[in-house]
Amino acid sequence: MTDASPISRRSALALGAVATTALVAPGLAQAITPAPARRPVRRGGVGPRLIVVGAGAFGGWTALALKRAGAQVTLLDAWGAGHSRASSGDETRVIRAMYNGNATYTEMVQRAFTLWTEAEARWQRPVLTTTGALYLFEGDDAFATQSMPIMRARGIAVEPMALAEARRRWPQIRFDGIRTAYWESGAGFLAARASCELVREEFVRAGGSWEIARVVPPTMRAGRLDAITLADGRRLDADAFVFACGPWMGELFPDAIGTGIASTRQEVVYFGTPAGDTRYDAANCPVWVHFGARRMYGIPGNERRGFKVADDTSGSLANPTTMDRIVRPETIATARALLARRFPGLVGAPVAESRVCQYEFSPIGDFLLDTHPTASNVWLAGGGSGHGFKMGPALGEQLARQVLEGTAPAPLFSYARFAEERAKLTGARRQHS
Ligand SMILES: Cc1cc2nc3c(=O)[nH]c(=O)nc-3n(C[C@H](O)[C@H](O)[C@H](O)COP(=O)(O)OP(=O)(O)OC[C@H]3O[C@@H](n4cnc5c(N)ncnc54)[C@H](O)[C@@H]3O)c2cc1C
Repeated sequence: MTDASPISRRSALALGAVATTALVAPGLAQAITPAPARRPVRRGGVGPRLIVVGAGAFGGWTALALKRAGAQVTLLDAWGAGHSRASSGDETRVIRAMYNGNATYTEMVQRAFTLWTEAEARWQRPVLTTTGALYLFEGDDAFATQSMPIMRARGIAVEPMALAEARRRWPQIRFDGIRTAYWESGAGFLAARASCELVREEFVRAGGSWEIARVVPPTMRAGRLDAITLADGRRLDADAFVFACGPWMGELFPDAIGTGIASTRQEVVYFGTPAGDTRYDAANCPVWVHFGARRMYGIPGNERRGFKVADDTSGSLANPTTMDRIVRPETIATARALLARRFPGLVGAPVAESRVCQYEFSPIGDFLLDTHPTASNVWLAGGGSGHGFKMGPALGEQLARQVLEGTAPAPLFSYARFAEERAKLTGARRQHS
């Protein structure tokens, strides 16, 4: 659940500098020719034929938005919606509008809140649990102070919280050593893998075509892609294609993306709470983000899975297909140390479950939502960078508009910016403090 901070991203890449530079030829980013003009996808009176590859948060919501806008859409995924290896495949993801002073993301979250709520009503199934988010700072709180004016100007409730008040409200949390606290009452968490499947089901109900299939890296000709090839040799043609392949984006586009989207190992621990003790449930405990020597965060028990604790520090580079997903003892020790410091009632709590996931980091943590640099009918959607899940519905809506109407992406999400930042990373990668 990282923010889109350049420092965290570049530090992450520096961690894997040796491995990643071996995979990408220096200067490759610059060798790619500039993007052809974006054009709307039209097809006479009927909706255009589109293929979306990837049924995670990015691809699933984009396919659904395209389908609801009248396109003929096929959605493909190698393993299914929200599977264990997908970045969207964990139980829960935080949704919060506090975004380190970045108005573009705060506005996108605001739109996402509306769309998640509308989707819940259509699905007749709650996926958004509002707990509020408690931000705790042991030191510098610029993350909050820079965000507050942006949030307040958009009507999003956020306030500093006196520590005495915080202690009164959450006696199960220890606040010693916390300098400042902030409260975003509308924040909460989303059921992650479950909602990927709900999106896929709605897509199929709306008439979308769905298949489990692996797509091989595509070959573009004369500025376009005519068809994709599946692993079993079948070719599927379409007017346009969206690739939303999460941490696999570089594998599909070794030149245009390559290690520009890097996959880092992230480990999550779910602790079992004492029998009959509801202090750590969503009804009594908020989502919390703890800014100390490292940034840690947690989500209260959802669907009886336990009390989730995670370290937001970027892990080592990892292969999303082949890595083992067994949490290391040092991760559990770090999580236990945080519990001892902040949640003393959970000292000695057993590990009830764990997950190993991956952040799919773009060069500086921003999303990529733009056409392929050499194919005007290929859209690239990725770079969730540890904070993309919540944005799914807003991002899907935005990308569908780009595909169908030919609108340009926000500058933050353009391929030009991605390539520029990637070029700074290839060759000698820079270490940031
Ligand atoms: C530990 C952790 C915590 C996080 N916390 C938060 C949080 O609190 N809040 C938040 O908003 N975000 C969070 N994120 C980030 C968020 O989960 C991701 O950014 C988001 O889920 C990415 O979605 P995606 O659709 O791009 O990728 P994915 O979910 O990985 O989906 C990509 C899909 O593409 C498919 N695919 C790939 N290659 C092929 C191929 N060749 N053929 C067919 N299919 C293919 C895959 O099978 C996969 O299903 C977190 C991430 C992690 C790992």
